[in-house]
Amino acid sequence: MARRDKQTKFIFVTGGVVSSIGKGLTAASLAALLEARGLRVTMLKLDPYLNVDPGTMNPTQHGEVFVTDDGTETDLDLGHYERFTSIQMNRHNNFTTGRIYNAVIQKERRGEYLGATIQVIPHVTDEIKDHILRGVGPNVDIAIVEVGGTVGDIESLPFLEAIRQLRREVGHQNALNLHVTLVPYIRAAGELKTKPTQHSVRELQNIGIVPDMIVCRTEQPIPAEMKKKISLFCNVPPDCVISAQDVSTIYELPEALHSEGLDYRACELLGIWSPEPNLSAWREIVQVIKSPDLPTVRIAIVGKYVDLADSYKSLHEALTHGGIANRVRVELDYVDSETFEHNPDSVTTRLGGAHAVLVPGGFGKRGIEGKIRAVRYARETSTPYLGICLGMQVAVLEFARNVAGLSGANSTEFDPECGFPVVDLMDEQRGVTSKGGTMRLGAYPCTIEPGSLAWDVYGSGSINERHRHRWEFNNQFREVLETAGMRLSGLSPDGKLVEMVELPSHPWFLGCQFHPEFKSRPLKPHPLFSAFIKSAATHAAGAGKRRRERSSTQAEIVVN
Ligand code: GLN
Repeated sequence: MARRDKQTKFIFVTGGVVSSIGKGLTAASLAALLEARGLRVTMLKLDPYLNVDPGTMNPTQHGEVFVTDDGTETDLDLGHYERFTSIQMNRHNNFTTGRIYNAVIQKERRGEYLGATIQVIPHVTDEIKDHILRGVGPNVDIAIVEVGGTVGDIESLPFLEAIRQLRREVGHQNALNLHVTLVPYIRAAGELKTKPTQHSVRELQNIGIVPDMIVCRTEQPIPAEMKKKISLFCNVPPDCVISAQDVSTIYELPEALHSEGLDYRACELLGIWSPEPNLSAWREIVQVIKSPDLPTVRIAIVGKYVDLADSYKSLHEALTHGGIANRVRVELDYVDSETFEHNPDSVTTRLGGAHAVLVPGGFGKRGIEGKIRAVRYARETSTPYLGICLGMQVAVLEFARNVAGLSGANSTEFDPECGFPVVDLMDEQRGVTSKGGTMRLGAYPCTIEPGSLAWDVYGSGSINERHRHRWEFNNQFREVLETAGMRLSGLSPDGKLVEMVELPSHPWFLGCQFHPEFKSRPLKPHPLFSAFIKSAATHAAGAGKRRRERSSTQAEIVVN
């Protein structure tokens, strides 16, 4: 079939009332449903802030920075997009106001506007439309374009104007506007309220955008009468008012939205015929996550961005995927590593109940010594340990100091003058002063040593994982650390960079310089997380046995 000539249809997703109402998850779930209907889908996220990309932003403000294969630092919603679909995101799938203005200003400096006065309309909006069309690419049935922020924000106006224009250009029937709002439940009155939704839709209409569908985030089921009311006030048919009630796991969303008719109505409005989606795989994982009798494994995540759960979004999801693969419930305990510095005794009490310890990626000196203490605890108590990026680097520091006898060993990120710089700046990073997009970013191959734990985990000698770092294992210390018992089990194919370390004397201890969490999907859990959770479950079973043995010995003592 000559699908190439087909017109790509657009679904523009906007958000109203408040931020963080799950616009990204709604968009991703809709994409999952459309893919399950056999359609070719792509997704774009337009972010209204002025940073050129989120790479320089503190994760506790804006959540994690998601890294794509091509090394773009993107908004965390792109992580949802990849987890819910089979789409590979790249630098064209996410852009910010900063990037748009950057492009416009560069064109202006090159004289490309031929003397025109540069204005938001048409120059900035044209640039946005060009970026959208470039991001969509060829051979796509439906492009879901999510506009970040909330309707009514000054920052998002050019994006909203651009999608308004684009719909007119591609033809009204080839696009639809989906507005995600909040229908709050007022506890004191015992009532759901539609007024914020009405206001938000009016705000949209003021700028020339008329929603075709409204997705209402809600704590309580929205009764048919209330849907009718929203339909009346907001000028959409009642069956285009979709209720998105809170779910216990985000992976329930595709099915929940499907049962509300979201994908069916969207396809109908866009004039697309497609078969009913097959959602059995989604149903299966939800069933596993929700089964009441799953054993629980507790993972301690020792980091510094612990105040905002979104800072470690992909990690959180990847660990959940590992739980699905092993049919266990994963309980995560986020620990601020600085507490181990103020109170060293708390390491044992806090980590004593954990079945595994994980130190995730991070930047800067704060909390490093606490992380090293956590690694030491895991190493000495044979508790499974996974170190990701900075987590691998602190594992190397701990081993160098406490096993290899390199007292005061450090990373030059934290102590540029230290005597044993076992983690040091990569050569190509020396002299780099610009902070944006200058790290080692994106997917790189890694060769795994046969017979290692890593080989066992991946079942393969050659892998490809995503990176985001400036520092690396210092090759001058390879020999001394290997002699002391650390195995360098993963190297770059040219052998120059250490990508994975492990301790053969420990039941499960692995550090990786890359971020495996970016590639894990609920329907395809990442092998490293599956194996890590399995080791935690094994440790938990052992801990139970050890406890039982201890209490029976104690009982004997009492009896005797
Ligand atoms: N700060 C370390 C580096 O830049 C680790 C980075 C990370 O954990 N993503 O190398």
